[in-house]
Amino acid sequence: MKEEETEDIDEGENTNRSLHELDLELQDHMDWWPDLSDLDRLNILGANREDRARLLASKDSKSVESIIKEISRRLDLTFVDDFELSSNPTKILPLRLIHSYSCLPIDAMEQSVQKPKVLCVDDEEGILKGFQLQLRNDFEVHVASSGDEGIEVFKKVGGFSIILSDMRMPGMSGSSMITEIRKIDPKIVCVLITGHSDFEIAKDAINSGQVFKILTKPCPTEELVEVLQQGIQQSESVGKSNLSLNSKGNKVHLLTLWPPTPRMSRWVFAVSGKKPIWYLGLPEKVTRAITENFGIGAESLDDSDLDQDGEEDQQDDLEDQNAAIIRFVNEVIMKAIVDRATDIHFEPHKETLQIRYRIDGQLVPVRVPDNLRSFQDAIISRIKIMGGINISEKRRPQGGRINFSHGQSDLDIRVSTLPTLYGESISLRLLNEKSQPLSMQELGLLGKDEKNIVNILEKPHGIVLVTGPTGSGKSTSLTAFIRRIHKPERRIMTVEDPVEYEVAGINQTQVNSEIGFTFASALREILRQDPDVIMVGEIRDRETADIAIRASLTGHLVLSTLHTNDAPGAITRLIDMEIEPFLIASSVEMVIAQRLVRRLCSKCAMPAQMQKSDLQASLALLGVDIDECKFGDSVLEAVGCPSCQNLGYRGRVGIFELMKMSDSIHSLVIKSASAPDIREIALEEGMSTLQETGWAQIKRGLTTFEEVIRYADGMMDEDEVSVESSKVDQTLPPVTELQ
Ligand SMILES: [Zn+2]
Repeated sequence: MKEEETEDIDEGENTNRSLHELDLELQDHMDWWPDLSDLDRLNILGANREDRARLLASKDSKSVESIIKEISRRLDLTFVDDFELSSNPTKILPLRLIHSYSCLPIDAMEQSVQKPKVLCVDDEEGILKGFQLQLRNDFEVHVASSGDEGIEVFKKVGGFSIILSDMRMPGMSGSSMITEIRKIDPKIVCVLITGHSDFEIAKDAINSGQVFKILTKPCPTEELVEVLQQGIQQSESVGKSNLSLNSKGNKVHLLTLWPPTPRMSRWVFAVSGKKPIWYLGLPEKVTRAITENFGIGAESLDDSDLDQDGEEDQQDDLEDQNAAIIRFVNEVIMKAIVDRATDIHFEPHKETLQIRYRIDGQLVPVRVPDNLRSFQDAIISRIKIMGGINISEKRRPQGGRINFSHGQSDLDIRVSTLPTLYGESISLRLLNEKSQPLSMQELGLLGKDEKNIVNILEKPHGIVLVTGPTGSGKSTSLTAFIRRIHKPERRIMTVEDPVEYEVAGINQTQVNSEIGFTFASALREILRQDPDVIMVGEIRDRETADIAIRASLTGHLVLSTLHTNDAPGAITRLIDMEIEPFLIASSVEMVIAQRLVRRLCSKCAMPAQMQKSDLQASLALLGVDIDECKFGDSVLEAVGCPSCQNLGYRGRVGIFELMKMSDSIHSLVIKSASAPDIREIALEEGMSTLQETGWAQIKRGLTTFEEVIRYADGMMDEDEVSVESSKVDQTLPPVTELQ
């Protein structure tokens, strides 16, 4: 039998290296049983895995048991007679592999001997009894009926993996007991359980890092066990900062009935992300356990298995499936590029794996093959491998990057994973390295607004803030501003997360929070580099706000963004960050609130021909003078054509609210006035609202009432707006490839 070294399952260097290590570790071709004729060896290797030990035994006239024990001695594989199937075995290993390789995920042998110790503390005897019943299968349970007794038991018994305690008890409370116990063992993980849902206490306890989780009574057994196990797992990973292949969580314990081949190990690793630890068991027992727990695999029904290529065929099937997954993921990404999507979301639901694109800010569902759900794990693993993410870590959010080349475009894709109810949800953000930053006109700024902004940007110092929710195009605007004021005699430096557009001639820095290079620390460094203009991607915390304000007061122009709904809200946000009002008043020059609305497709937009009453109602909704009805003829509506994926819109345009810091607003800020008060004065002084500029864009035939009404309302969550599926024509890669 020849071994084909197809390594297309993984592309990450790390993974390849470890696969290679696995190769070296394991023997193959039965050279561990040398005194065997070639013909006998071929006969044995040609048989099903479950029959091989029997054949070898009859050849040597020995019992199967003694042969298996001999093999495990020679190969140094632990022989296992009694075993516990791990809980959720098919989550560890797909059913298909269990059947093809006749192997079973089992509890690690050293673990099944010793259960982790849990200390349960509660003042009610009945509840303690309940815990004992609920936990005795999975843990060694010790109990205490008060905080003092808990500490005593903890010291006396020792070796606890986790503590489960009532929060409110007479005498010492659960959290004070934990504080005491953590003085003895700072790493001990604690779970609190309470009859009251006291959110504040719970939050404090979790924030203080002392408590892993808070549960409410009564807690179902399943949940209780799972939370405790998660807590224990967490404590085991604490201190092992580098999750190497050898750490405990990255192994999978597999019982099989014949020595595994390197290829088996590779596949297990590719599918589960875990290094297999193999054990040998009696073929009869292993097959029985597989049939009892997982039924009969399709392969076992095939009589032609005695044919020598049988095993390779099965593996080829698996490799084909894997290649199909790779193709599928690539095609999902390529289609997203063609459709100008900015994000791709893979969302596991109960029945399906939903895939959605975000195009011009709107979520557009992608039609997927019916059987996609069964490939969910493989698809998610594939994306994680592409993104260089630890595929075995499924409980924590993770991030990664993919460099994706497709034709002319070179894409930098940010990957983020989040555990959800039915699996990990994955979001890809597509950053096109070639995408061109926009000019101020292209943003859709009206003439007078543009002039106002440029006036401020020409000043040598001060702060200009752009506000809006996520995805409202804040950094697009900042980049446009920077390009507008870029001159050889001005030194412009930025700190961004991430750098979305490259602008020639300016110095762009990217934060890297993993190494502690945050907005604040980057900003501090930049100030030592003699800049004239500084752009800070976002002001998220007091420290950054503080440095930005001081920078502006010492003669720098600072541009940044804040996550608030409207312009006056920026002022109160800064006050919330404990910035002195007089510092705000003397540094902030202008606040611009903005939204992006979808731009009508120029190929298919048609006059809306609205009824006068509808027009009046729409204008009233935007708070615009009814007199504007006279422009009703210029209102267009979305139609849909091939060039806009039948959506009726293509691209986006901004709507803005500009607040200039006048003298009267200054004095309001110094008095720490509320946002509505500031807003009222700003409006009196002629600030145009988002709705008013929205109407201006409607009049220009650039967008529609629907869009402005939807986005100008600051409270609206964009994600709740989705496109009717009937309007969508997103067809994905051939379904057959996945079958
Ligand atoms: Zn169109």
